[in-house]
Amino acid sequence: MNISIIGAGAMGSLFGALLAESGENVCLIDIWKEHINAINTNGLAIELDGKTRFIKLKAEFVENMVDRSDLVIIFVKSNQTSEAAETANKFIGDKTLVLTLQNGMGNADVMTKIIDPKKIVAGTTSHGATMIGPGHVRHAGKGPTVIGMWSGEKNEGLADIVETFNKAGIETKAVEDVKPVVWKKLIINVGINAITALTGIKNGGILDLESTKDLVREAVKEAVAVADAQGIKLPEDMADQVFKVAEATGANRSSMGQDIDHRRQTEIGAINGAIVRLAAQSNFDMVPVNKTLTALVETYQSHFQ
Ligand code: NAD
Repeated sequence: MNISIIGAGAMGSLFGALLAESGENVCLIDIWKEHINAINTNGLAIELDGKTRFIKLKAEFVENMVDRSDLVIIFVKSNQTSEAAETANKFIGDKTLVLTLQNGMGNADVMTKIIDPKKIVAGTTSHGATMIGPGHVRHAGKGPTVIGMWSGEKNEGLADIVETFNKAGIETKAVEDVKPVVWKKLIINVGINAITALTGIKNGGILDLESTKDLVREAVKEAVAVADAQGIKLPEDMADQVFKVAEATGANRSSMGQDIDHRRQTEIGAINGAIVRLAAQSNFDMVPVNKTLTALVETYQSHFQ
């Protein structure tokens, strides 16, 4: 399969490396010159359980992208999704599908404004990756990947993606209705990310105080109500599911926490900010906890140079 990955950071590089190792024709596309040059010179270094292997694959700057791929994967951070979708739209063919496995809510909707909505595949992945430096990523965790057509319409190409990913060791299944899957992952992030980012604690830290757990319960309750207003029914026990994830990933710093630690812009707009935005769309403006968490993170990151 010809695969282009726009946004070759931690996750784009990881998926690109696994797919290239499995024999697919992969091209990584990014705006980060040192990273692209390092991959083209030395190959991509993937670190797993203390061992490093080098994988040869193509890497290109965005402006040089010409390929017509069977699959384009968008793996930029959510605040760059529309730029990446514009890039993708310039070179996709009739049968190309465009996949987002980014965190947050709104990426697929942004993409449907730029790319034919029938081509958009969305989903979630439990793989984790960390950028170590140019040309070097760490495979930080493995887990299932779930994908589906964002439009809900059937598309034969979905089965090819599932087969190609599984062959590459990326355990993947397709579902008919992917929206609840993306919502569930969003709600885990709503419960953990902003609170850990603002307080400097690791994920497990949200379980230490009853008052922190109450804050998580309130943020999650608002998000579940907004999902309901959007026609998405989620399980009653979403806050407990957040606590389970916080326990299982207790020693990790959330991705938003890492962004704040490195003084980078976060994905707050696609996480708690998405709850605020969607609540307003549904004339359901009762999301004070998510509004406050969003405003605090936005205030914090607005002072980064
Ligand atoms: P990252 O910051 O490591 O990578 C993003 C890459 O996009 C960078 O290399 C950046 O240079 C590039 N980029 C920015 N603007 C671009 C543009 N216009 N065109 C092309 N490239 C551009 O981020 P990441 O950790 O790989 O995360 C990507 C997405 O995956 C996020 O939505 C994140 O929430 C999600 N995610 C991450 C993990 C993880 O463990 N890292 C796990 C699951 C989901």
